[in-house]
Amino acid sequence: MPDIRSLLPDELKEVLKAMGEKPFRADQLFSWLHAKKALSYDEMTNLSAALRSRLREAYPLSDLRVLDCLESKLDGTRKFLFALSDDNVIESVWMKYHHGNSVCISTQAGCNMGCAFCASGIGGKVRDLTAGEMLQQVYEIERQTGERVSNVVMMGTGEPLDNYEQAVRFIRLISHEKGLNISQRNITLSTCGLVPRIYDLAKEDLAITLAVSLHAASDEKRKKLMPVAKVWSVAELIAAAKDYFAATGRRVTFEYALVKGENDSPEDAALLGKLLSGFPCHVNLIPVNPVKERQFQRSGYEEIVNFQNKLEKYGINGTIRREMGSDINGACGQLRRAFLRSGEQQG
Ligand code: SAH
Repeated sequence: MPDIRSLLPDELKEVLKAMGEKPFRADQLFSWLHAKKALSYDEMTNLSAALRSRLREAYPLSDLRVLDCLESKLDGTRKFLFALSDDNVIESVWMKYHHGNSVCISTQAGCNMGCAFCASGIGGKVRDLTAGEMLQQVYEIERQTGERVSNVVMMGTGEPLDNYEQAVRFIRLISHEKGLNISQRNITLSTCGLVPRIYDLAKEDLAITLAVSLHAASDEKRKKLMPVAKVWSVAELIAAAKDYFAATGRRVTFEYALVKGENDSPEDAALLGKLLSGFPCHVNLIPVNPVKERQFQRSGYEEIVNFQNKLEKYGINGTIRREMGSDINGACGQLRRAFLRSGEQQG
């Protein structure tokens, strides 16, 4: 069944044209779906009852139900556990910053990338999300919080470049001036490094920030943490990131999760410094979030600061990621995991 929320304005025009409707009806429908975040066709009172009923038949609106919401007492971060129309479960996070509200969305139910430290990959990928389902996470969170969202990060469960077409659609729709109109400059897409898709993304004419999950500067260490490193080398990944910067003028962010004793030594920092030296980029240093099913421990505060200082010697600015919502079951698929685990125990 086609998801009508995933259609771009021109495609919506085609749909309505095929139904014998005037093109301006597509503008009205787009506005109901994306600016007014309508949950049902009944709300769309400037469309005739007959049209609404035909749309309801041909394009049923999928729903997104809140299963759970945890709010951090420390910083107000909220984690939402949502059920999709087919009862698959995903999670999204709402974070309040002084510059505005940010939402972290999932792009797939589960993930096939299998990074060693990550909770999202444990059960593999269940399915891709549609662009509409990505949008609904933001829409529903605006509805729940009663506040506008100004930033979106595609850093929840899933590999967005493994769901490329829908991910790009999502970006075009959420930044559309007749929709939520979130600036592309306030959207970040995070990838584990599907190199050919980074080259494709550079050609899409989008002003988003690309974040690359690097986590190690040598092929040998990266392969231990991320299976994707067996397919493309660090050198190939950096070349793709440089191409993205050259094509878009947007500085690339590198994410580096610091894992105790694995990738956090001064030598590791020097290797990363040499690798990125001279490339205008940001490095996000993230103390790894311990996951119940995984062995990894986070680096100590001293190692993290030493790592940052060493990077600076190579002219690279590393920001230590401020932890949000650390009292509400951490990051990266852990809420969804806990939910699935509780189901396993019951069933
Ligand atoms: N698949 C994409 C986006 C989802 S993961 C990607 O790999 O970038 C978002 C970020 O969280 C990635 O940088 C990922 O490596 C990181 N991450 C996953 N599990 C983590 C953990 N336990 N602690 C810290 N960062 C983690």
